[in-house]
Amino acid sequence: RADIALYRAKRAGRNRTKIESGAWPPFAAELRDAIDDDTINVHYQPIVELASGNIVGVEALLRWAPATRPDLRPDEIVRIAEDNDLIAALDQSVLRRACLDALEMQRSVITRLDLNVNVSGLEINEKNYADMVDDTLRATGWPSDQLILEVTETFLAADTETAIANIRTLRERGIRIAIDDFGSGYSSLNRLAELPTDLLKLDANFVFSITPTSGPPRLLAAVAALGVALELPVIAEGVETASQDAAVKSIGFRFAQGYFYGRPEPAGAFIAAAAASTRR
Ligand code: C2E
Ligand code: MG
Ligand code: MG
Ligand code: MG
Repeated sequence: RADIALYRAKRAGRNRTKIESGAWPPFAAELRDAIDDDTINVHYQPIVELASGNIVGVEALLRWAPATRPDLRPDEIVRIAEDNDLIAALDQSVLRRACLDALEMQRSVITRLDLNVNVSGLEINEKNYADMVDDTLRATGWPSDQLILEVTETFLAADTETAIANIRTLRERGIRIAIDDFGSGYSSLNRLAELPTDLLKLDANFVFSITPTSGPPRLLAAVAALGVALELPVIAEGVETASQDAAVKSIGFRFAQGYFYGRPEPAGAFIAAAAASTRR
């Protein structure tokens, strides 16, 4: 399919790693087994509302150390899964686990949590994707209006009718769509304005460029203004330091995520931390 071929071509241009193709078949088999045995781990990183400091949601992030390649990063695992026709099964496995864990986490923090889950650009171009999400929500009991699916703007580069149809269907069912790594890729502002979307997640590199002495880069303020103009809330990603936290607050971002507020951790650790903070 032309759109998927284009997605692959665009993706090939970035994030190239030193994975040799010879390592893929054993890895793919191991991944298949891990999905079947449900031994893929998921960690959760808080997303905070800057004005209140409250945790309003968590992003689910794949964690898995295969015996054949224990050094692989999550984005590399995702890419190999895409190249070996395993991405649908992998993303579904993460979504399912995340919905179940989120039910537990929400109970522990008592307040409402949104769950953010990443979707591969290939997956969102599959005809049955919206139905798969529906099935998983029904099976787990996680509410559709508390699910945010994160797609990268890479998939926008292609002529993506199926993806847009999926996104429309998902949004009709109350699921929100976030554009992940916004500003790092290929989307034109034209396409962005047309796209049915609910949130922007600003690529972490914009925030990384804030230093204690530099002050907020003007580009960062421009992106915040773009969010306001499009009436889309923007989440600043990659906030690691107090000066970056101060900068994203002063620019007027509504939400932020990064090591400054919390690192990705297993659901159990998240729940334990929530319990400790209520006791305080
Ligand atoms: P992403 O969706 O943009 O996720 C944010 C990444 O930034 C995560 O990396 C997170 O651990 C990292 N991060 C968060 N805060 C900070 C910070 O303050 N400083 C720095 N330096 N990094 C921070 P991670 O977990 O390695 O995931 C990398 C990418 O892999 C994700 O980027 C996402 O694109 C992809 N990914 C992860 N899990 C899944 C999944 O289940 N399905 C799919 N399709 N992709 C996934
Ligand atoms: Mg993400
Ligand atoms: Mg991101
Ligand atoms: Mg990323």
